[in-house]
Amino acid sequence: MLADRYGRIATDLRVSLTDRCNLRCTYCMPEEGLAWLPKPELLTDDEVIRLVRIGAERLGIREVRFTGGEPLLRRGLVDIVAACAQLDPRPELSLTTNAVGLTRVAATLAEAGLDRVNGSLDTLRADRFERLTHRRRLDDVLAGLAAADAAGLSPVKVNAVLMRDVNDDEAPDLLAWALDNGYELRFIEQMPLDAQHAWNRADMVTAGDILAALQEHFELTPDTPEERGSAPAERWLVNGGPARVGIIASVTRPFCGTCDRTRLTADGQVRTCLFAREESDLRGAMRAGASDEELAERWRIAMAGKAAGHGIDNPEFLQPDRPMSAIGG
Ligand code: SAM
Ligand code: SF4
Repeated sequence: MLADRYGRIATDLRVSLTDRCNLRCTYCMPEEGLAWLPKPELLTDDEVIRLVRIGAERLGIREVRFTGGEPLLRRGLVDIVAACAQLDPRPELSLTTNAVGLTRVAATLAEAGLDRVNGSLDTLRADRFERLTHRRRLDDVLAGLAAADAAGLSPVKVNAVLMRDVNDDEAPDLLAWALDNGYELRFIEQMPLDAQHAWNRADMVTAGDILAALQEHFELTPDTPEERGSAPAERWLVNGGPARVGIIASVTRPFCGTCDRTRLTADGQVRTCLFAREESDLRGAMRAGASDEELAERWRIAMAGKAAGHGIDNPEFLQPDRPMSAIGG
């Protein structure tokens, strides 16, 4: 088990498959991109599969989410998914993606054993999409989400980040669109994880702001709290349900006390938290010949030291050195 000294047990593994991306969301990456990780430092497909296997077989991992950067850019993605779907016990497999190019691979991923997709979309307006991502790909994203739904990778969840004076007036439109398409929309508060270090708490669109904007157009009733468990999203039934909307209020209503995550970066480092300032190197140990049990023990030791919370509100808070795209969001 991956237990920490606060009684939390990590069963949900986020695996970053690449730090590269084909979009440039302003809250994540600068327009010119970043210095990508050198290829020899990236885990190979077999190394990723081995570490996921160790997680599932020895450490109690029950859910694996592939992310990045943009995981659809990883050439071996389908093979990695297929191999992880053969594990015993078999973890739930999902993918967080910007959905660009998903039309081409959604069905193949479903056949390989992928269970669900979380797409990311912050605006339904083409001009804003271009301003937000520096790319003209809105139609690709919409088609990609539809392809995921058609391939049975459902319920398709859609993550949206609102930014003040950019798209913060779009919450009701996004929800109406998600309801029309049968997607579950979740708003994520913007976090201090951008490579540019431009995040500013005072400018942040809060869960409270989002809720107030939605309540002008929809009747929202809190979903029963006992169902929330370790899920980061607080959920509301929309107009009596069964459709729901979620808000992931990492900053204003942190859920660190029930966190069940462990993270693996594309270069093979275990992170206990998005905001951790330390990492534990599994790649080096693996390439030096460590056994499965030795790697599992390193992973356990790393997780035992997980901090109680992210501490964004502490005066001494320091943003992690790696941006979201390199950690795996
Ligand atoms: N490229 C994929 C995507 O966009 O879905 C996967 C990686 S991305 C880092 C994962 C999620 O993190 C996306 O939903 C994105 O909107 C969110 N994200 C990125 N930077 C963020 C930030 N600074 N604050 C909050 N969410 C952020
Ligand atoms: Fe790429 Fe996802 Fe970051 Fe946007 S949020 S730049 S799609 S990694």
